[in-house]
Amino acid sequence: MSGHKLLFSGLKLWTSGSSKWIDRLHHGVNRTGKAPFSSCNPKVCIVGGGPAGFYTAQALIKARQDVEVDIYERLPVPFGLVRFGVAPDHPEVKNVINTFTQTAKHSRCSFYGNVNVGEDVSVEELQRAYHAVVLSYGAEGNRRMGVPGEDLAGVYSAKDFVGWYNGLPSCRELGPDLSCETAVILGQGNVALDVARILLSPLDILKKTDITQPALEALAESKVRRVLVVGRRGPTQIACTIKEIREMVNLPDTRPEMVAAEFEGITEALKDLPRPRKRLTELMLKTALGIPDEKEQERRTKASRIWGFRFFRSPVEILADPDHKKTSGIRLAVNRLEGSGETARAVLTGEVEDVTCGLVISSIGYKSLPIDPSVPFDSSKAIVPNSMGRVQQAAGLYCSGWLKTGPTGVIATTMNNSFDTGRSVVEDMDSGTLDVSAGKPGSQSISALLDKRGVKPVLFSDWEKIDAVEVRRGEAIEKPREKLLTVEEMLLEARK
Ligand code: FAD
Repeated sequence: MSGHKLLFSGLKLWTSGSSKWIDRLHHGVNRTGKAPFSSCNPKVCIVGGGPAGFYTAQALIKARQDVEVDIYERLPVPFGLVRFGVAPDHPEVKNVINTFTQTAKHSRCSFYGNVNVGEDVSVEELQRAYHAVVLSYGAEGNRRMGVPGEDLAGVYSAKDFVGWYNGLPSCRELGPDLSCETAVILGQGNVALDVARILLSPLDILKKTDITQPALEALAESKVRRVLVVGRRGPTQIACTIKEIREMVNLPDTRPEMVAAEFEGITEALKDLPRPRKRLTELMLKTALGIPDEKEQERRTKASRIWGFRFFRSPVEILADPDHKKTSGIRLAVNRLEGSGETARAVLTGEVEDVTCGLVISSIGYKSLPIDPSVPFDSSKAIVPNSMGRVQQAAGLYCSGWLKTGPTGVIATTMNNSFDTGRSVVEDMDSGTLDVSAGKPGSQSISALLDKRGVKPVLFSDWEKIDAVEVRRGEAIEKPREKLLTVEEMLLEARK
């Protein structure tokens, strides 16, 4: 159906804006609090209510005045890694929630939380109900190190550790053992530095954030005083950004502990580095080799906690304590670099080095998982194979976000690739490649299916009740919010 006009009950032609009013007159308002739209409108379903889901929805709604979008999210709460990944001491990053909320409240967008696609409803069922299905369910798996001892107590994935301090229900019971002095983090991306910062941050900083109360209490008892952030390659290949390094350099009550030899030749290499990497490397060099001024020297002397990078090291084995119950250290292979720049390869030298530690956190990447056998999945790249968001050999199926690109990049990157996917969907509608001429039932038929299966979706207005409870709980202890930690609690508040 072309463009902006909707025909209702032989009345007149109406713009989609006023169709809401007409529908209310004729059918009343449905459970989403929004008027049901025309059965002729193109209906798109999005799987996953993280940044990719919301940005794809935003792009679709903006590009065509007739598209209706439904977002299905597994958890009762929206926003994906903005809620469960982004570090609690980065509240400014979470401002994107305001834009997502606007999208969710748009008259042509509906949110259905507490719906696990692949279990509660299949992708094929969604495809029958909608003209297009966009998969945006992120990267919830974890890359394993593949070394002996990986499953010992005291070894955690950054994904679980981050989920734990951010209140992800599935990580609530993690209870990480923080009774040791040294922690080793494997991987040198921004997530690794988030974890290092949370482990070492003074409590006064953390208690003003939305970090969960159990995490705050565990960190208050933590004995961790030294955190080493280990990478397989050298300082000029480090994967984090300058902001995160600067935060470590300026973290109160900490001092850096670097190995000068690992920076050999780096000063000479500076001139050939592209600008952002050059600035980041200069900061590391200054931190590692620079002579601190008096004030900084005094700050470092007084610091009770230590952080440092270790370069040219790969994990070989997690070492066990004498009872073989928990980790007591890590064996690292010493590497050298072959080549230079971004493409330099770490090559084993044959040497190894043991580091004593009681906590190992592997931060070597997230990975997407298949959720439905009907959807093509590239296991080697851990993504849904696609071109510009069009899933290969699957008409009407699209993908966006980390599922489309792999788990790299910041929210802005996710935004751009989600807008691209939105554009692909709209192009296909406009060109007729995606046939939207026949009406589809959309959420009507899916709601009936879910009802039959005993699944009760959480609507955006229900999430707002959860949100209000969390904010209220937070206010009482001077935090921006105190998150509900179980799905049961969330559902209870949503249904009040
Ligand atoms: P996600 O955010 O993971 O969203 C996927 C959604 O799909 C989730 O809500 C999930 O519950 C849902 N889902 C999963 N399976 C199903 C299913 N079967 N059915 C229905 N729903 C499902 N970027 C920044 O710009 N700044 C930062 O400070 C920052 N910090 C980060 C910290 C961490 C620890 C991590 C991991 C990432 C961080 N990022 C940051 C990157 C940013 O979070 C990602 O770019 C972005 O979240 C990717 O969006 P997404 O929608 O693809 O995935």
